[in-house]
Amino acid sequence: MNDPVTRAVTHIRLVEVNPGKLAALDALAPFYLALCQQYVTLFCTTEPPNKLRDPLYRTPLSERWHRVAIMQAAGIARSWRSNRTTAYQQYQDDLEQYQKQQADGQLSVQAKEPQWREWNVPTPRQPCIQANVNVVKLEESHDSTYDYWLIISTLEKGQPIQVPVKLAAYHRRALTDSKTHKMKKLNSSVQLNQRDGVWWLTLSYDEEVTIQTPPDAPVVGIDVGIANFVTTSTGKHYGSFHKNLRARHKRDRAKRRRKAKLRSCLKKKGVKKLSSTSSRTGQKLIRHTRQEITRAVNQCFTDPEHEGVQFAYEQLSVASMRFKARAQNAYLRASNLGHIPRQILWNSQKRGVKATPVISAYSSQECSVCHYTDRKNRPDQRTFRCQVCGFEAHADYNASVNLSRRIGDRTLCACKDRKVIKAVLMKRHEAWKQQQGMRTIRPAKRRKRGKSSAAASSI
Ligand SMILES: [Zn+2]
Repeated sequence: MNDPVTRAVTHIRLVEVNPGKLAALDALAPFYLALCQQYVTLFCTTEPPNKLRDPLYRTPLSERWHRVAIMQAAGIARSWRSNRTTAYQQYQDDLEQYQKQQADGQLSVQAKEPQWREWNVPTPRQPCIQANVNVVKLEESHDSTYDYWLIISTLEKGQPIQVPVKLAAYHRRALTDSKTHKMKKLNSSVQLNQRDGVWWLTLSYDEEVTIQTPPDAPVVGIDVGIANFVTTSTGKHYGSFHKNLRARHKRDRAKRRRKAKLRSCLKKKGVKKLSSTSSRTGQKLIRHTRQEITRAVNQCFTDPEHEGVQFAYEQLSVASMRFKARAQNAYLRASNLGHIPRQILWNSQKRGVKATPVISAYSSQECSVCHYTDRKNRPDQRTFRCQVCGFEAHADYNASVNLSRRIGDRTLCACKDRKVIKAVLMKRHEAWKQQQGMRTIRPAKRRKRGKSSAAASSI
């Protein structure tokens, strides 16, 4: 099975050969950013995102640039809308749960009614241009000084600028095919970013990945979390944010607070030049966390126990990342959690092992034995205890078993939202109950049920 994958080569600095050469790009950027923002707002608030929408606003940019801005804005708005929808469904879910507990008189004293705060329309602050060949052309250079030329059309018609591109050794390595030793075929669209007055180029190429896993290979489910970065349905945990990382994070937060205090104190005394509050140790910590994640995912893939298997993993949305990060502790940034599925994808591609993202909704609340789905099945973050059949396990393990079964689950894939998914799972639970009823008359472990619901309501 072949899957083309788009890979990016980032951080190629645009060389300023003669001063002022990039001035034309600097001049264009604010107009582009402003126009893009207008369409982002339009597509987020008034109209559904449409890449091919007719131009609506006035701009000094050419029609070609105008169309590129519309396309980019539509992409930004589409992902914003989908993330917002997921978050809103999560909120409605939380609210429903809250109201149900309230009606049952099971609400704890500390429980707060979930509030919905409307999302702001995204506002990119630094210029980012996703350009196609109509406005930016990438040409191979024929002399040895540079690798490519970028031909960028500007505000002045018929006056494109030519900017040389020089690759660093590691860029060239990334862009060279390891078998043929030839340069890979680059995609025609490029991305230009401006940060602190410097322009950076991102190139990309498509790669065919050969998956060697046979389709009937046994499936191992992967649950992603903070207490354990990776938990598999084979019952193993890899990596954790707790232990050292957590302590480091706390120290870092305290340090940042002290710095901020010092700043405000100095400011009051009229000191002009202030040190920055952005913490270098914070950056280090993020890097360290990511290294730990990379290591954990690697260990999972190279575990001898996982030879010849395929993986099913949860595709986290931004909303569920936030949710998971909040449920456990606010220390870990959602962006770090998002690093886990990316690493899973990367490992699977690198090794030619099949890994399939699957629907993750309710995977942590569904009982892997009887499908009963309820938040009360989770008396605490670590524990899964089914309210009906009494099945008890590590919560992440229970979730990973559910995920392992969701490959090719067409019924779940066809579900429009979380509500429908929950209904499907509860239907499966009913089917399980009927099947059970044929064999035994009394539901299994009735006693445990009473005990755990009492425990859940006292939280
Ligand atoms: Zn159960």
